[in-house]
Amino acid sequence: MGQVILELEDITKSYGEGESKVEILHGINLSINKGELVAIIGPSGSGKSTLMNIIGCLDTPTSGSYKVNGQNTFAMLPDELAALRRNFFGFIFQRYHLLSHLDAKENVQIPSIYAGIDKTTRLKKSIELLKRLGLETKVLNKPSQLSGGQQQRVSIARALINGGQIILADEPTGALDSKSGLEVMQILTDLNKQGHTIILVTHDPKIAAYAHRVITIQDGSVLSDTINEAVQDHQDLDFDKVDTKKSNALVDSFRAYADRFKEAYIMAIRAMISNRMRTILTMLGIIIGIMSVVSVVALARGASDKVIENISSMGTNTITIMPGQRMGDMRSGRVRTLSIKDLQALKGQPFVDSVTPTVQTSTSVQVGNIEATATVMGVSDEYFRVYGMEIGKGRKFSDSESQSSPQIGVIDYKTKTTLFPYEDPIGKRVFIQGKPITVVGVLVDKEVAFRPPNNLYLYIPYSTLMNRIVKQNYISSIIVRTKDGFAPAVAEASITSLLKTRHGRVDFFMMSSDTIMKSISQTTGTFTLLISAIAVISLIVGGIGVMNIMLVSVTERTREIGIRMAVGARRSDIMTQFLIESITVCIVGGLLGVFFSMLTGFILKFAAPQIPLSFSITSIIIAVFTSSIIGIIFGYMPARSAARLNPIDALARE
Ligand code: ADP
Ligand code: MG
Repeated sequence: MGQVILELEDITKSYGEGESKVEILHGINLSINKGELVAIIGPSGSGKSTLMNIIGCLDTPTSGSYKVNGQNTFAMLPDELAALRRNFFGFIFQRYHLLSHLDAKENVQIPSIYAGIDKTTRLKKSIELLKRLGLETKVLNKPSQLSGGQQQRVSIARALINGGQIILADEPTGALDSKSGLEVMQILTDLNKQGHTIILVTHDPKIAAYAHRVITIQDGSVLSDTINEAVQDHQDLDFDKVDTKKSNALVDSFRAYADRFKEAYIMAIRAMISNRMRTILTMLGIIIGIMSVVSVVALARGASDKVIENISSMGTNTITIMPGQRMGDMRSGRVRTLSIKDLQALKGQPFVDSVTPTVQTSTSVQVGNIEATATVMGVSDEYFRVYGMEIGKGRKFSDSESQSSPQIGVIDYKTKTTLFPYEDPIGKRVFIQGKPITVVGVLVDKEVAFRPPNNLYLYIPYSTLMNRIVKQNYISSIIVRTKDGFAPAVAEASITSLLKTRHGRVDFFMMSSDTIMKSISQTTGTFTLLISAIAVISLIVGGIGVMNIMLVSVTERTREIGIRMAVGARRSDIMTQFLIESITVCIVGGLLGVFFSMLTGFILKFAAPQIPLSFSITSIIIAVFTSSIIGIIFGYMPARSAARLNPIDALARE
């Protein structure tokens, strides 16, 4: 007797639970010796395949003990069973179970990828095996380009690539014509002669006649177990072992892992390409999500950049004092306490460099037949300095003029082009509510911070506006320019105490470039928070889309998963493949989103230059990072459910 290699004791298998529980195998006792060629024969439905799947560790028995090479399989983890399938057994199925999108040599190589054989070795070996099986010209053919017999030979090569010490063939000739069937049987007999242990399931006595030992199964029990003396036994032969031992060196195992990862990656990309439309539609959710986030952030940044630019152009050491409690106070129009006397009191302060009041009114102005609406600002001569405005032509008014109500004024460039399109305005008169004002200066053509660009502005001495035109004794605001070296906070505190003493209460508020900056960064912060919330929602929606498609993909490819598991893929191999797929969809989607958003920005730069866009590298990096996280989170569930499939259930599914 040869050495016992497989040992089954009291194996039972039942399907279903409780009432509907059916026992298919009733206590099978078998031992298979090394080097045997065994045929399991029995009518259809007798439990042959069920038994075979248990022998091949594709399925687990309900009770009993099964030892492979002396090791009890009952205590084994899923990955240890996968290792047995990968390194010890070689499966041949009635319907070949090849992967349709891979060619012959790639199909043959699958088990060796999972075994961590390096690329050159496994390619060489796969071609060698195909050659040995007479398929040297079919190496690059896909299964659909092969006959049944050829496909079965490819599957035999696949069973042999990791050694295939025990070949399990479930009705290997069942789908073949008699000639191809004979060829396959010839190959199996030859393999047995080389030392492979072969277990063959058939319902055909002619096929069973090739075997040295014939086990008959009926209704889930062994009926007979006989030796066929006509067939020679090869038990005494030593197995012509293909080296399946893997080095334990860290470098080697790392290489094997990287190799498996790479294969999983190629698989994932192939799957994505073969489902192009579905992949693109899935990506669309991510693309739109990322694109909107990146664009909106760019818009918000652009807007706040522009505001900050405006503020810095205004000069840094100015403080604007306004009536009321805060910006936008509805009652501030009725607070009329800021006066010229306040102005004079401020002028005497040690920290004040210059100070200008502003009184303003919006009114119609007229030159000849031309009439327009303009903002008339009553200011002092310091005003132009405070705002950094330059006189392009003529002169500004002097300090004494600003107090003595002369009927002169300075106009901005827009006003010049509107009211004096063809002539030099200096010395000409503009009528404001019927009062003539002589133009003494024109400002250079330059936009001023926080001003609508199409508005017209006329600057006249505040005394002129207050005494001759609007007839009011309070002023709209006071702008103080502090001396260099005075901290804005100190100046603000002094102004507050001075005006509080004068007015008896705080009926004014101040804005310095400092406080404006602060309030803007606060607003921007709120805005960013809002955008982030929208971004999170849209990305979650995109992620759910990805999860949906991945679940469909798992369902669609259940058979592929089953085949991969049958030839020895670990749970982690399957998981990796599906995770890579969802992460790739998300990262590519994210990058496309960034690309489209920048493209939009680029187009807008020309089409609508007034829309400020400012892309930040940080937001782009965060966007792509987020999309990969989404890939992992939403891909995890489908990938896990794929990895947890029972190999035999997965295989059985169509
Ligand atoms: P054979 O290969 O000998 O034709 P099988 O082992 O495939 O037979 O099936 C044996 C019996 O087990 C059949 O009656 C079949 O209906 C039943 N069977 C097989 N798989 C399942 C399953 N997953 N659930 C329930 N019954 C099953
Ligand atoms: Mg069967």
